[in-house]
Amino acid sequence: MNKLEFDIIDSSKCCGPTEKQEAMSNCCNTSTQYNRVKPSQELFTHLPIVVIGAGPIGLAAAAHLVEQGQNFILLESGSRVGSHILQWGHVRLFSPWQYNIDKVAKKLLEKSGWIAPPEEKLPIGKEIVEQYLEPLANLPEIKDRILFNSKVIAVSKKGFDKMKNTGREDVPFVLYVEQQGDTERIEARAVIDATGTWSNPNPVNADGIWTAEEILLNKSIHYGIPNIQGKDRDRYLNKRVAVIGGGHSAINTILELVELGEQVEIYWVMRKAKVEDAYGGEEKDALEARGELGKRIHQLVDEGRVKVFTPFKIYQLKHTEMGIDLIGEYKGKAFILSGMEEIITNTGSRPDFSFLRELRLSVDAVTESVEALSPLIDPNLHSCGTVRPHGEEILRQPERNFYIVGMKSYGRAPTFLMATGYEQVRSIVAYLVGDIEASKKVELELPETGVCSSTLVTTNNNSSFC
Ligand SMILES: Cc1cc2nc3c(=O)[nH]c(=O)nc-3n(C[C@H](O)[C@H](O)[C@H](O)COP(=O)(O)OP(=O)(O)OC[C@H]3O[C@@H](n4cnc5c(N)ncnc54)[C@H](O)[C@@H]3O)c2cc1C
Repeated sequence: MNKLEFDIIDSSKCCGPTEKQEAMSNCCNTSTQYNRVKPSQELFTHLPIVVIGAGPIGLAAAAHLVEQGQNFILLESGSRVGSHILQWGHVRLFSPWQYNIDKVAKKLLEKSGWIAPPEEKLPIGKEIVEQYLEPLANLPEIKDRILFNSKVIAVSKKGFDKMKNTGREDVPFVLYVEQQGDTERIEARAVIDATGTWSNPNPVNADGIWTAEEILLNKSIHYGIPNIQGKDRDRYLNKRVAVIGGGHSAINTILELVELGEQVEIYWVMRKAKVEDAYGGEEKDALEARGELGKRIHQLVDEGRVKVFTPFKIYQLKHTEMGIDLIGEYKGKAFILSGMEEIITNTGSRPDFSFLRELRLSVDAVTESVEALSPLIDPNLHSCGTVRPHGEEILRQPERNFYIVGMKSYGRAPTFLMATGYEQVRSIVAYLVGDIEASKKVELELPETGVCSSTLVTTNNNSSFC
């Protein structure tokens, strides 16, 4: 086994950049405190870099690893790439194709004769998977390296629990992977976690707690964005439906329910102080289409088509003969909204750290994003288009050569864009192969406004994200 050839700089003395010389002369100029003097590309070169999750960001990481001639494995719990995206495959994205394709992936694809979709067109989720992710995954350089139906249930350091220090960096990572009933153990020299957050929605419960009652009622609750105009139509037809959440996804869900006709009773439950806070700028909105969305929902509320309950904090759900009761506090007083037949909740999602329990992580206490990233993505200050591009240095974890990227790197913040994730993995792969200069370059250009609009939503009634 190779012994590491680097020093760890004492981070109490300096909290700066990666290379020793620079670090000594340029202390404390970044928010991250994990200093490295030399990437460990020499470490366990016979072992693969393991990427977890074959969404757009995991696959982009794969493309960059191909370009750099690296040995890698891509583990995906689903049976297809883009498994999460396919769950909202009917939803139109708010960013056009030009921002949704990784540059290196595009180069690899074009070599195989693939033709990129029109740059300005706004795809739906399913098109992202079928027209981009699947062709990418089918490239011979990537295809044989993806293991489907392979769920990572734990990541650790070989022979080391979380507490053990001495020699920790001299051992590889070890991943426990569930594959059709068996548990495989895979060793890795670096791990990139690109598992997203989609499969971990927030509960209906306003305290953020998963109650046993809510879990039991899961057949009557849809977490996310149902395909109301498509396969889920019959589920909501003529029903009494509570839509939970005050963002664009909830508004779009309501607009789709309205299309099902007068027989659908719609109850809109939020925590906002007043419903006007959900309308946005309406005609004053800088983005005309987003303003239009606010105007439409405003009108439906004024007409009484949508019954609003805000601020309503739900603390418990109860199944009765009449349906589901939402029990909580409405305008500060105990209240029960009874008899709901279906609940659709659009209250965001959260990262799953359970399988990373044995790794040393640095996660922001509020957003649950990668810690050094939190000031850059605070949803109170930033929309999708204004998050500063960032790379390896910001994404660094205390556990050397382990990275959380993509949607998961933002924790609970909803401001993530694929284009930002592509830049993350470009920088990390550059670092892992020892190209420090390239890892530090910021190569992402986003327009100041526009990529995070809801333009398309109003044109086809589908839901936007941000
Ligand atoms: C409705 C909606 C609309 C959006 N619109 C846009 C947009 O217009 N533009 C934009 O840039 N971004 C948009 N986003 C945000 C973001 O780009 C997407 O969520 C994107 O899918 C995130 O990519 P990802 O690769 O980080 O994660 P995901 O796409 O969530 O992929 C994660 C993958 O990891 C797999 N996985 C999970 N756990 C494990 C495990 N333990 N082991 C193995 N595999 C695992 C999953 O099956 C999945 O395939 C949108 C998001 C949503 C929800």
